[in-house]
Amino acid sequence: MFIDTHAHLQDELLNDVENVIKNAKNNNVQKIICSSYDLNSSKSAIKLSERYEGVFATVGVHPENCEDYNDEVEKQLIDLCKNKKVVAIGEIGLDYHYSKQNKELQKDVFVRQILLAEKLDLPIVIHTRDAMGDTLDIVRKYKSHFKKGGIFHCFHGSKEVLDEICGLGFYVSYGGAITFKNANNLREIVAATPVDRILTETDCPYMSPEPFRGTQNQPKNIPIIAQKISEIKNIPLFELEKIMEINTKKIYNI
Ligand SMILES: [Zn+2]
Repeated sequence: MFIDTHAHLQDELLNDVENVIKNAKNNNVQKIICSSYDLNSSKSAIKLSERYEGVFATVGVHPENCEDYNDEVEKQLIDLCKNKKVVAIGEIGLDYHYSKQNKELQKDVFVRQILLAEKLDLPIVIHTRDAMGDTLDIVRKYKSHFKKGGIFHCFHGSKEVLDEICGLGFYVSYGGAITFKNANNLREIVAATPVDRILTETDCPYMSPEPFRGTQNQPKNIPIIAQKISEIKNIPLFELEKIMEINTKKIYNI
């Protein structure tokens, strides 16, 4: 089976989730991890995971929403994690693309959620945009706290960064961007990624792979991304499918 390790099924752009999940399953995408970005999306992700077989949830506060994070939110996140369908804390991290003014707060909220994941015995899902240096500083500093590991979602770093995070035990997830015509550098990174570290994701409803770039992305597109990885790494698709299934089950414990 294929697995979408990072999809925003709770996004309001997806107006017929039932069909989205059905179409995914028809395309052999049997499991979907619904990724959250604040308290409300975390609650919605859990609701979807309870309603649909094969859907799981992550809970957490995205760096763009770091202003919302406080003790009360943290308490509620801890409560939500009692649900068995919650498989990770995420997406968490640093994003300096739009907001550089609150870097210190972003770092603080990132670290708090790293420690929260440790306390709850869960892996983390890292989002990093225009902030790889600071992200790595934190990951290095807290490396002994990732007992359940983590994932760099939509990875786009250099070969050096790839080597370092793989050395620290992280998994690396790739989405539609690896199919884009101008993404030769990224494809070189995919080629260099150890196969036992690779995961696929859509980041739905964003980042559709070619030839659907610009349209709404959905988990059913995972086989297109997997096919591209299979070509880049020269591994038969059915073999890669099995390897990535094992990788996903290991990191998310599903
Ligand atoms: Zn995302």
